Amino acid sequence: MTDSTQSDNSILDAIRQGDAKAWAQVIDEYQGRLLRFAQSRVSQHADAEDIVQETFASFIRAVDKLQVEVSLETYLFGILRKEIANRFRTRWAKGVCLIQDIYHSDSEGMPAEGLDLLPDTGPSVSWYVCRDEQQQVQRRVLGQALEHLVTTFKEASRLRDLKIAELLFYCRLPNQEVAKLLGLDERLVRVAKHRCLKRVRQDVLESLPSGDLSFACSEGLLTEIWEMQRLSCPKRSTLGAFLLETLPPQWFDYVDFHLTVVGCHFCRASFKDLQEQQGTDGDLSLEEALRLRIMNSTVGFLSPP
Ligand SMILES: [Zn+2]
Repeated sequence: MTDSTQSDNSILDAIRQGDAKAWAQVIDEYQGRLLRFAQSRVSQHADAEDIVQETFASFIRAVDKLQVEVSLETYLFGILRKEIANRFRTRWAKGVCLIQDIYHSDSEGMPAEGLDLLPDTGPSVSWYVCRDEQQQVQRRVLGQALEHLVTTFKEASRLRDLKIAELLFYCRLPNQEVAKLLGLDERLVRVAKHRCLKRVRQDVLESLPSGDLSFACSEGLLTEIWEMQRLSCPKRSTLGAFLLETLPPQWFDYVDFHLTVVGCHFCRASFKDLQEQQGTDGDLSLEEALRLRIMNSTVGFLSPP
């Protein structure tokens, strides 16, 4: 469990106790980035606000049953995407990166070697709550192995490897497209992919209870977990440093890649929110109005203190 999921868990505990202040804090912290995300997906401002309000309402209604395996932000974005998909029934709600939107727009799924499509609606509250135990263990083990891989790349500043892994597993691009985007030889990408998968497989086998070899791991599942855990997404503080241009050059380049080449919608929404916070305070009263609206429509779901 990471520090951030630990602190998310204590906030969740407070909310379950009916702590309205803790709940207001969550709304405050996340409403901006959720709204930017919704606005990038729906044309009407009012629709986007409704969707964000409904996201917080769905969250608070299910709060007693939630177990934090990923960050609070990831939960909220998961619910938000489901709300958007439910409302508009469009395929684009599935994509989490601009690249995916492009690849999903012209045909059924990716132009890859018969890979599965992403799950219909992305993570939802019920998705987190209702899963059988074995599947949970498998996902956790696979998530840890992938996290381990990403951490190794980050700690050693192997950012080219990180970019390759991100394009392969987060965006699920075919090798040749990855090679083209990064200006690399396709063979190099193939070897890098092979190494990543081998490493992940080894990690998984070492962590699973002995004899449990029934582990079915499709590339679709890798993508789902990568997306759910936002494995390669920079932290909010890193996005802030990117905005202020205080990151070391290679990290600046990586964050730029994540925002503009990968086009991660979550991080773009967060970044836009940060930009607007930094800029004029002109919209503050609108933000405050939305906060109050969300609070009023959800506070009744909090348990009495
Ligand atoms: Zn991201």
